[in-house]
Amino acid sequence: MRAVVVEKPETATVLDVPRPTPGPGEVVVQVAACGICGTDKHIYAGSFLSHYPLTPGHEFAGVVSDIGPGVHEVREGDRVAVDPSLFCGECYYCRKLQGNHCVRWGAIGDTTNGAFAEYVKVPARNCYKLSDSLSFEEAAVIEPLSCVAWGQKRLQAQPGDSVLLLGAGPMSLLWTQMLRHGNASQIVVTDLHEPRLAMARGLGASATVPAGEGQAERLHELAPHGFDVVIDVTGIPAVLQSGFDYVAPMGKVMVFGVCPLKSTITVEPFQVYNKDLTILGSMALNYTFLPAIAMLESGVVDVKPMLTHRLPLEDFTHALSLAGSRESMKVQIAPQS
Ligand SMILES: [Zn+2]
Ligand SMILES: [Zn+2]
Repeated sequence: MRAVVVEKPETATVLDVPRPTPGPGEVVVQVAACGICGTDKHIYAGSFLSHYPLTPGHEFAGVVSDIGPGVHEVREGDRVAVDPSLFCGECYYCRKLQGNHCVRWGAIGDTTNGAFAEYVKVPARNCYKLSDSLSFEEAAVIEPLSCVAWGQKRLQAQPGDSVLLLGAGPMSLLWTQMLRHGNASQIVVTDLHEPRLAMARGLGASATVPAGEGQAERLHELAPHGFDVVIDVTGIPAVLQSGFDYVAPMGKVMVFGVCPLKSTITVEPFQVYNKDLTILGSMALNYTFLPAIAMLESGVVDVKPMLTHRLPLEDFTHALSLAGSRESMKVQIAPQS
C-alpha cells in the first residue's frame, strides 16, 4: 500500500509499504479522509514527541477492512471514525480516568503509524461507528472537535462570559460554534487573514478583529473590562503571551494551541496574583469522542464550510504548507485518490 513516511524531520516520501494485518483486538481501517493538524506540522519539523520514521495522520475516518481475533463490536464494512488516543489502561493516570496523561501515552499518527496511508491498523476499542448522515470528510473532523470538547470540559465557562479566541483556524471555528450554543455573551475572534475572520463571523463569532495594528484598541472597545476567557488557538508563543493583556480580573487564559516543544513565554506573576487569574492547559482529548459525534450529528457544529482542500497522498508536503495559510481552512488527505 502507499503511505506517507516521514523518514526524519523535513523529509517525507510516499513509499510502498506492507499493508498492516490486525492482531488480537485490532482492526484495519481503509482510510477515506485524514485531516492535516498543527501537530503534523510539528512532527514534520521535528518539534514533537515523535520518533522517526513515522507515518503521521491522526484525524481520520474510513471503512473497516480487516478484523483481528477477539473483536466483538466492530465488523468489516463498518464506517468508523477513530480515536487516535493510545492509553495503557493500567497506570495511575488511566485509573483516574486521566488517560491523556497516561505514563505510556501514545497516539496513532503521533507515536505509531497513522492514517496518511491507504490502510491503518487500530485497536477496535478506538473505533466509533458513524451514521450514514455524516460524510467521511466531516467525520475526520471528529478528532479535533473532541479536543475542543475536552477544552470545554476543562474551561467550564460561566453564564455570560465574554470570550476572546486568538486565531481563526479550524480549531477556532469549532470553538466558536460550541461557545455560540453555550452561554457566552460575546465571542470575539482575531486573526491576520480576513477570509478566515469572515468564516468565523459566518459560523457565529459576534465580532472579529484583524490582528496587528489597532487590535488592542478595538479589543478594549469590545470588552472594556477585559475578556472573562481568552483562548489561544494559534500555538504561537508571542500570541499566547499577548492574551494576558486582554484577560479580565478573575478571568481564565487557556493554552489550547500547541506551542513548539520547549518554547517559553513571559508571564508576570504579580498580574496573575493581582488579577486572580486562572491559567489552563488542555491536552488533546480524553474520552470526548461521543460528545463530539453528538454535536456533529445534531448539527450544533457544522464542519462542511470548513472543508476547503482535499489532496492525494503525493501532495502531503503541499498540504502541510496549505494548512494554516490564508486561503485554506481544513485541509484533508484522501489516500484512496
Ligand atoms: Zn490534531
Ligand atoms: Zn496509562
